[in-house]
Amino acid sequence: MKQPVIYTQNLSKQFGSEEAVKDVTFSIPEGTIFGFIGPSGSGKTTTLRLLTGLYRPTEGKIAVLNEAPSEFSRATQRKIGYMPQLFVLYDDLSVWENLNFVASLYGVGFGRAKRLNELLDFVELSSHKDKVVRKLSGGMKRRLSLAATLIHRPKLIFLDEPTAGIDPVLRRKFWDHFQTIREQGQTLFITTQYVGEAAYCDYVGVLANGRLLMVDTPKNLRRRAYGGDIIKLRTADYVSPQVVAALRLLPFIQGDVTRTGPQTLRIVTDNASTVIPLLIDWAKEQHLTVESIEEDLPPFDDVFVELVKNGDTHG
Ligand code: ADP
Ligand code: MG
Repeated sequence: MKQPVIYTQNLSKQFGSEEAVKDVTFSIPEGTIFGFIGPSGSGKTTTLRLLTGLYRPTEGKIAVLNEAPSEFSRATQRKIGYMPQLFVLYDDLSVWENLNFVASLYGVGFGRAKRLNELLDFVELSSHKDKVVRKLSGGMKRRLSLAATLIHRPKLIFLDEPTAGIDPVLRRKFWDHFQTIREQGQTLFITTQYVGEAAYCDYVGVLANGRLLMVDTPKNLRRRAYGGDIIKLRTADYVSPQVVAALRLLPFIQGDVTRTGPQTLRIVTDNASTVIPLLIDWAKEQHLTVESIEEDLPPFDDVFVELVKNGDTHG
């Protein structure tokens, strides 16, 4: 099996008596987007600093690109990009001058101008390249920061709340950028407080009070929250309690069947796409007119509420 790009085992970090990160174990495969989701103060930045070698763990093991972060070689450092939570570029330099400066830090010599133009294009700042950074909007600064992080073509990119405080349209765009980067084979570790952004990740780690509650795909998180896939069924006529009872007895219905209105049902199943056609056939036999039937995909805000309510903390 391929080595994971990031691997931690029982990772903990203590500041005095405060335990910021507690017993965190996970691994991230290459070429994926890993979303690290948790509220403010849950330990996101601390974890990221442990992974990049800024902090040393109090306990536990870390391997990033097969090395301990405290002993990164120059070569490994160059494979990593890190966008901190706070903007760290120069306010009194222009967009171009900032990128140029970062490029020289990383020793990007050959084809530098081409690379900078490419990145400015990517983050849609080409028409602002001569603007002094002080005059940029918050969203533009974030985009510039992202461009600066990508200059040396890192294989592994850490982004600390890149979408915080940005309007939803721009946030969406950022995630499009991240997916483009992932499609080029890079790995992204992205922290966020917006649970809705789970939808754009390949894997999601849910962090609360320094503890990693679970790691799973967004689809599986949804299934864990509700016990399976959810199907919404609307009929043309009144659904009697007898119909509900009959449904519950069907062999292909393993989960809950709930009447959510006089003409609507909510059915939890193992697999919505195989069960929907079976339900349609069944309804036909029962002379029940189906007005609509579809998989219900509740937004991730609701999924997280559900997960926290269930206290789901296994594996
Ligand atoms: P997040 O990035 O999720 O907001 P942090 O990792 O910044 O969370 O913080 C996690 C917890 O650790 C918080 O309670 C914070 O106060 C504490 N903490 C973080 N850094 C330090 C530090 N250098 N010294 C003491 N406490 C810290
Ligand atoms: Mg933080």
